[in-house]
Amino acid sequence: MAGLEFDVVVLGGGAAGLFAAFTAAQRGRRVLVLERANKVGKKILMSGGGRCNFTNLFIESQNFLSANTHFCKSALNQYTQWDFIALMEQHGLAYEERKHGQLFCLESAKDLLAILEEECALAQVSVHTRSDVVSLESLASPARDGARYVVHCAAGETQIGYRCHSVIVATGALSVPTLGGSDRGYHLATDLGLPLVERSAGLVPFMFSDATLALCTALAGSSTPVEASCGGMSFTEDMLFTHRGLSGPAILQISNYWQPGATLTIDLVPSLDAGEFLLAQKRANPKQRLRTVLSQHLPKALIAELETRWWPAQAEKPLAECNDAALRGVGEQLNAWQLKPSATEGYRTAEVTLGGVATSAVSSKTMETLAHPGLFFVGEVLDVTGHLGGFNFQWAWSSGYVAGMNA
Ligand SMILES: Cc1cc2nc3c(=O)[nH]c(=O)nc-3n(C[C@H](O)[C@H](O)[C@H](O)COP(=O)(O)OP(=O)(O)OC[C@H]3O[C@@H](n4cnc5c(N)ncnc54)[C@H](O)[C@@H]3O)c2cc1C
Repeated sequence: MAGLEFDVVVLGGGAAGLFAAFTAAQRGRRVLVLERANKVGKKILMSGGGRCNFTNLFIESQNFLSANTHFCKSALNQYTQWDFIALMEQHGLAYEERKHGQLFCLESAKDLLAILEEECALAQVSVHTRSDVVSLESLASPARDGARYVVHCAAGETQIGYRCHSVIVATGALSVPTLGGSDRGYHLATDLGLPLVERSAGLVPFMFSDATLALCTALAGSSTPVEASCGGMSFTEDMLFTHRGLSGPAILQISNYWQPGATLTIDLVPSLDAGEFLLAQKRANPKQRLRTVLSQHLPKALIAELETRWWPAQAEKPLAECNDAALRGVGEQLNAWQLKPSATEGYRTAEVTLGGVATSAVSSKTMETLAHPGLFFVGEVLDVTGHLGGFNFQWAWSSGYVAGMNA
């Protein structure tokens, strides 16, 4: 077994790992990044439709889910969205602001990854790809060379043990295995007695097995603005119909708050009291049909599907012949469509993983574990999950930064 010595070994070359690595190296630490894949930053390249929604102008702790909702505050304050934007501007990254303060690369996520790789190169970070971290050994008492940990890694047929002073676990979470999704970080944590918060797929589309599926299939590819509510949270955004069920930003956002078996409420006309609107239309346009007046607020294809299901008896009647209770009933359905997803699409398509290494075991100021000096957890492996909109990458940068400053 060959022995190599570094001050800090970072496990995983994703967003949080690369950021932690060059931050520590800029402080003079000798840093090694071990990445299982053939290249670093694969999720960054695929994110935001290839343009990486790398942060948000409006970062607040309310945009994050965690058993301890205060945990994320310190890191987000120590390294803010403004700090990250300044770093990108210093490198001349072209970016654009989209709605809700979301910042995206103008050209390609490749440009952002190139900046992170350049920072690593400038700070002389060593990066070993095709290096699968298998286990972590905590040395009972620090060795003469100062090593506190040995990281055991498989590189092809070769098993290597890297001795180091500090370890930063940045192996990410379960989402999208083809982009590096991995449970290794959780195993490393439990092997050392650290608690986990139960994990589930987040920012993920819903599937249906009831009558809703036929409706979604018929409308697959079309979208409409809605307010999606569940578990005391609501998001007003676009909803997309798919061959499996529902997706789009409103659905991805609310999926973080959904539990199996729970009912989802969709307001299809969020800016409108639909019942009052229909009664007013009955007075103003008594000869018109429901489909005509609703087309001011809903896509025609959606109305065509809904009228056969929700108001077949009223579909061909002029509004004057529809009684008020029936119109109010249609309005209520439009404002509060009750849906029971059969499941989410799971980790195959989820953008994030909810839960993870319990924040109770980690210092919020440094990301160092309380029980194991020199062992840090950063990024998505922790029980901190952001809303859609650049919050997850900001968490990766901020948590990576504070670990890099203290490793
Ligand atoms: C399709 C998609 C699009 C997304 N778009 C956005 C977006 O636009 N904005 C946003 O804020 N968030 C987005 N996210 C979420 C964001 O990508 C993650 O929250 C973020 O990448 C987490 O960073 P991380 O460094 O913790 O983990 P990752 O970026 O997943 O990095 C973990 C790294 O560890 C490596 N690894 C795993 N196991 C081992 C092992 N045993 N040994 C060595 N290496 C290992 C992996 O190969 C990987 O490179 C998206 C996610 C997906 C899946």
